[in-house]
Amino acid sequence: MELTKISVRQISGVSALKEGELHAFGVFTVNDLLEYYPFRYEDYRLRSLSEVKDGDKVTVQAKVFGIPVLQRYGKKSRLTCKMMADEWMFNATWFNRHFLKDQLTPGREITLTGKWDLKRQQMTVSESEFPDKGTVRSGTLQPVYSVGGKITQAWMRKTMNQALAQFGGMISEVLPPELVQKYKLMPRSRAIQRIHQPLDSEEGQQARRRMVYEELFLFQLKLQAYRAMNQERMDGVRHEVDNATVREFVRSLPFELTDAQKKVELEILKDMRSPYCMNRLLQGDVGSGKTVIAAIALYAAVKSGYQGAFMVPTEILAEQHVRSLTKLFEPFGITVGLLTGSVNGRKRKDLLASLQMGMIDIVVGTHALIQEDVFFRALSLVVTDEQHRFGVNQRSILRRKGFNPDVLTMTATPIPRTLAITAFGDMDVSTISERPKGRKPISTYWVKTDMMDRVLGFISREIGEGRQAYLICPLIEESDKLDVQNAIDLYVAMQQAFPHFKVGLLHGRMSAAEKDEVMRAFYANEVQLLVSTTVVEVGVDVPNATLMVIMDADRFGLSQLHQLRGRVGRGEHASYCVLMADPKSEVGQERMKVMTETDDGFEVARRDLELRGPGDFFGTKQSGVPEFRIADMVGDYAVLEAARDDAAALVAGEAFWTSPVYAPLRQYLQAEQILQGELID
Ligand code: ADP
Ligand code: MG
Repeated sequence: MELTKISVRQISGVSALKEGELHAFGVFTVNDLLEYYPFRYEDYRLRSLSEVKDGDKVTVQAKVFGIPVLQRYGKKSRLTCKMMADEWMFNATWFNRHFLKDQLTPGREITLTGKWDLKRQQMTVSESEFPDKGTVRSGTLQPVYSVGGKITQAWMRKTMNQALAQFGGMISEVLPPELVQKYKLMPRSRAIQRIHQPLDSEEGQQARRRMVYEELFLFQLKLQAYRAMNQERMDGVRHEVDNATVREFVRSLPFELTDAQKKVELEILKDMRSPYCMNRLLQGDVGSGKTVIAAIALYAAVKSGYQGAFMVPTEILAEQHVRSLTKLFEPFGITVGLLTGSVNGRKRKDLLASLQMGMIDIVVGTHALIQEDVFFRALSLVVTDEQHRFGVNQRSILRRKGFNPDVLTMTATPIPRTLAITAFGDMDVSTISERPKGRKPISTYWVKTDMMDRVLGFISREIGEGRQAYLICPLIEESDKLDVQNAIDLYVAMQQAFPHFKVGLLHGRMSAAEKDEVMRAFYANEVQLLVSTTVVEVGVDVPNATLMVIMDADRFGLSQLHQLRGRVGRGEHASYCVLMADPKSEVGQERMKVMTETDDGFEVARRDLELRGPGDFFGTKQSGVPEFRIADMVGDYAVLEAARDDAAALVAGEAFWTSPVYAPLRQYLQAEQILQGELID
């Protein structure tokens, strides 16, 4: 019987009630419990008072020396007693442990853990044990678990010991012997034992190292096996489009592709022409020209006789893409449709019918686009963004509709390599590593909020030279309504400040038609200054805009600031970003510094990760970044990379799929539903 199949109820001392409480921690089986690792250790190793600094927490072996004195204050109490440890005499003090008084008989041995006050030669005791009653903790490192509800630390420790005693012998190795050897890892059974009961910190470290590797290896194995099997599947669409046809379109573009763009274009076309199902991530800094790459892929799909879908996060962006794609594709007779939440009624019906009949080649829209009641004549390519990353569910919805399209995922945020191979390890990655030539760097300034007059002067100067500007309102997180009011107030103030310019307003509460009209006017330079909330954050492309002013910039995260800044610097004119902020926190100041020091998105992302930690990086759980039990994505990055290479090499070999040595790993993949032919998210 495997430990993954034995319920925690089988551990003696685990009642139905406690079992229920354990479920709240995601612990169902004995294996789950054994993998419920401590997040640190409490040091109960015995020390001598002669080596202890003032204020340290310490455990000492002592003898009761004097007569205990108990003072009561209502329900509270204070117990003091003279103690002797080695040659040291000191006072031990307990709070609210009146019941100990009778047990403190002179000469009795006692183990005390507490905080040492050097000046007063006194210890405030937090835990005490009598060796004559059988000791549990003293002399050891004790694990500290994350606990709560009816599960106490003491209960958890006891239960873990019980589980190890009962089931420790059944822990079997999962890692292949060559990898255990390669990294000199502890065998699994000893590592699990020692992670809960380390004899010393070195051993605890070794146990942890082993379990970190295992966790990262198994995680990568899932991704790599999924990838390998996906590549075996030959049921993707084989796009047949020749180079001459593609070149014709590329030549029609108003610019020449950068070398980096050409490289990723080839990678994508190669995938599309193959019978394998493409699952590729396209990443590149803001303004590096990802959209045109998406356009080439969509063009190739249509020219092969199929349809494409382009999913984007906002309606504004959907409308922008429809406009620009229509312009690019019109000469080639390719039709583009728009499908968002605000397309409804008759218009929506017509659009759905055209899609189904194949009268529309490309549809741009928000997420609903590929679900619901939407049918295609022949969908073969889906371009989407990071937030709408394709999981199993979407793929299987499409399969059920009879499609198995190639998928191209674009990231709006450059992702540090660390996270890329973790969150997107199942994908192939294409990176646009340079921005189009002739782009000038964006000069970024950080000014105090009382410099509004000078900022207004700056806006006036840029617009006077024929350029356009964005003014991003402070973000008011608590209240959508206040947010909007704020934007409106600022809009009114700007109209007064700039009577000679046209000022526009954009916020999330406007109707789609209103937003569309404002954006259209801004594209057309009928509006010169756009006062906006962060709705313009992603993707908006107005090359003539050269100034981005962000108010209360310290309220925004780094990647968001970088995205906002990316709205300028998209044409041949020098561009500027002004951050207005008086950050009080150190992190806030650091963010402003990062922004003024670099405009390289990968560098910004790296610094962001440092400041925030990986947990916060993507904001939401659905981003695909897994939560590890023991590994730390940043700290254990080197292990993660090694594990990925090991897993990839393993699944590439024939032996992995056939040899009995790897049976435990294959079973694991089966349990994780990867080997059934079903896909993972
Ligand atoms: P992003 O990677 O942020 O999505 P876009 O695709 O919006 O970037 O491109 C930014 C701007 O650069 C757009 O105006 C686009 O037309 C332009 N552009 C894209 N590729 C090139 C190129 N090779 N040379 C010059 N301009 C380009
Ligand atoms: Mg293909």
